[in-house]
Amino acid sequence: MSVKSLTTSVSHLAVKRILGPFWKRRRWLDKTQWLSADELADLQFKLLKRVIHYAERNVPYYQCLMQHYGFSSEDIRSPGDIHLFPILTKKDVMEVGDDMISREFSKKLLHCAHTGGTTGMPLCVYRNFASIGDEHAFVRRQWDWAQVRFGDRCAYLRGGIIKNADAPQRRFYRYDPILKELHLSSYHLTPETIPVYIQAIEKYGVVALAGYPSAISCFARACLARKASLPMKAVLTSSEALTAPMSEEISRAFACPVYDFYGSAERVCYIFTCRHGCRHIQPEYGYTELIPVDGPGAGRCRVVATGFWNKAMPLIRYDTGDVVVKSNRLCACGRAFPVIEEVTGREGDVIRTPSGEEFGVTIMIHLLYVVCGAANVLETQFIQDALDHITVEYVPDTAFSADAFAAAQARFIRHLPSDIRVDFKRVRAVQRTSSGKIRPVLNLLPTATPERVPCLEAV
Ligand SMILES: [Zn+2]
Repeated sequence: MSVKSLTTSVSHLAVKRILGPFWKRRRWLDKTQWLSADELADLQFKLLKRVIHYAERNVPYYQCLMQHYGFSSEDIRSPGDIHLFPILTKKDVMEVGDDMISREFSKKLLHCAHTGGTTGMPLCVYRNFASIGDEHAFVRRQWDWAQVRFGDRCAYLRGGIIKNADAPQRRFYRYDPILKELHLSSYHLTPETIPVYIQAIEKYGVVALAGYPSAISCFARACLARKASLPMKAVLTSSEALTAPMSEEISRAFACPVYDFYGSAERVCYIFTCRHGCRHIQPEYGYTELIPVDGPGAGRCRVVATGFWNKAMPLIRYDTGDVVVKSNRLCACGRAFPVIEEVTGREGDVIRTPSGEEFGVTIMIHLLYVVCGAANVLETQFIQDALDHITVEYVPDTAFSADAFAAAQARFIRHLPSDIRVDFKRVRAVQRTSSGKIRPVLNLLPTATPERVPCLEAV
């Protein structure tokens, strides 16, 4: 492990678990998960009032908005009064810019996290230091529910780039002995490379797997086809839609339960899976409103939520752009947390290369905007219009630089497999579905269905 990697790991550990409120929040969350529904409602209202009061005192946008509509935090006397605030969209946040940031912090000292998700519009969400420790305590709760302990070795198949994966020595993974994490490249899963991934997991004694459902299910199919035995304690998926066939396949391949985790960089709503397979909204994390999409009483709802923990950029009534199917079930686990049947809003097509690799929306957005540094784009859509070709349509914003974007395009093309051609196309608006949603990855090939991926079945 190089000195640079060691320093990075230690600083990640320090920020997430040692210097901030991680342990305090973790102990608190251990207790609050067993509160009654009434106690949770009281707690939520207290946290909601706190964030509104804070925004009123510190965030220029909310000061202006509350003045404009003629109300103050004192007028919030019940959770229903949150309707005094209009729903906030990602486009609104982008247009408001720095006035969304709390004056308590210097922008230079804040952490910027890029969103991608289902809307295809990248946004920088600023986070303060303490909120990172709080956040990590919530994330560990999902690992606790999956019975994966500190010290258990975990492998990740997410959007990170593995150094030297494309160099002649072809290294597809990186192991971090400090964090006990094996990072595997999601960009190089092919029939030829699968044995290397299996060997790495065996070599490091990995007991849990986490990452994007598209990458993990691809890997699961390859393991099943090879009859490779890789038993795990748990698999944790996030960031993309996990369909029932994908979950069943993953569970079969790794002989363990699959825990799907829903969240976003905006940090307003978390949904975790308990060991009874129920997806629970985490009520101490934010105030979540489920707004029926198809009229009152319908099951499909838009997720609009207010996060409780990020002081740097409080988001009140933020429209996540995601759709869930709600449930009135009570879960056998004994928690009074609300239950969701499924998260449907993140379903998207995947890009498939002729050699059998596949990339979901999270990877494509991460690659273009975080890894390759594209910026000042309002909307993006990746369209697979031939087996070996994709068109990336984009809508520039006012600060767009053609030269900077061309450089990012070149890097993006270099990172993708060489058997797929890419063209970029500037458009006035990307295509919407009939309900007005953007599908950031649009696969127009007739054989493309998420449950029947031929890529690795012939291994
Ligand atoms: Zn439960």
